[in-house]
Amino acid sequence: MAVRPTTFLRLKLREAAFISRALLSTNHVVLAHIIPMRRCNLACGYCNEYDHSSKPVPLELMKKRLDKLAELGTSVVTISGGEPMMHPELDQIIRHIRSHGMIAGLISNGYYFTPDRIKRLNEAGLEYLQISIDNVNPDEVSRKSLRVLDKKLRYLAEHADFHININSVIGGGIKQPEDALTVAQRAVELGFSTTVGVIHDEDGTLKPLTEKEKQIFHAVKKLGNKDHARLNWFQDSIAEGKPYEWRCRSGSRYLYICEDGKVHWCSQQRGYPGIPLEDYTMEDFKREYKTEKWCAPTCTIQCVHQVGILDNWRDPQMSLAQFRKEKQQKDKERVGQMVRADN
Ligand code: SF4
Ligand code: SF4
Repeated sequence: MAVRPTTFLRLKLREAAFISRALLSTNHVVLAHIIPMRRCNLACGYCNEYDHSSKPVPLELMKKRLDKLAELGTSVVTISGGEPMMHPELDQIIRHIRSHGMIAGLISNGYYFTPDRIKRLNEAGLEYLQISIDNVNPDEVSRKSLRVLDKKLRYLAEHADFHININSVIGGGIKQPEDALTVAQRAVELGFSTTVGVIHDEDGTLKPLTEKEKQIFHAVKKLGNKDHARLNWFQDSIAEGKPYEWRCRSGSRYLYICEDGKVHWCSQQRGYPGIPLEDYTMEDFKREYKTEKWCAPTCTIQCVHQVGILDNWRDPQMSLAQFRKEKQQKDKERVGQMVRADN
């Protein structure tokens, strides 16, 4: 197993604690994705989340954003990109997350891992890493390929003191769907957990899978992490091309913080609500918790679905118009009570 048993146990206990806390109270952020730089060394054909020119967000600004996330009670912070390993002060960012007692995760394309770099991430306190591998051999759609990354995976298996999940993907123009099975088998062989994702199209919604893709998708799911498989029921509907009914709590229990420090629903719905994190209040949090997202029925974003499960059984959502109407009504009643109390 890549990660030492004591470290794995500690992470599992911390995860159990944040799940209990999330079940007991709806008033805090469960998971935030934060972008320390939009720049990436690759250019995957399906991706709308990178550029080749932007600068890293300065460390002091990142620290302020993390302080605000801690203030909002955030349990888990995942650093994403672009390619976050290109940020020169990544280790300090991880340390700052841990200094607030939050769980620190990282999503990377895997290109920059060397034994020395992995050891420094251990020292910084990284707790989990996810790498997505799209195919076995590089092609014009993706160079996140097992053949290129296998050496990096072996370094990780040998040196990493954090949990590693390898995500393979189906759909989105990936030519050889059977590669997902090869990737998952290799991940299991190296002692990593493995998940499979359906690649979303440009607006974050569904591309129906072909019959062959569906078969491979189910085979990879069987191989994978049982906890994730249990949490990812929605994927069975998505693979069939059917909409899935759930309550997306992005903007509240899940936050996506872009490189400009604004809060967005998720990577695929940037611009909503588009409020700077420093100005984000519990009013915003409550509005987003209570209101439906138009894109939910065909959404393929695994982490937001998993966060949604914590609250799917409670607090039904409503349209934004209905929410505003109810709020106006409540405000009027409150003013009325205050006036009566004054008389
Ligand atoms: S490595 Fe990740 S961020 Fe970079 S282009 Fe590919 S999918 Fe996008
Ligand atoms: S349903 Fe939520 S997570 Fe999915 S695309 Fe819409 S806002 Fe993003």
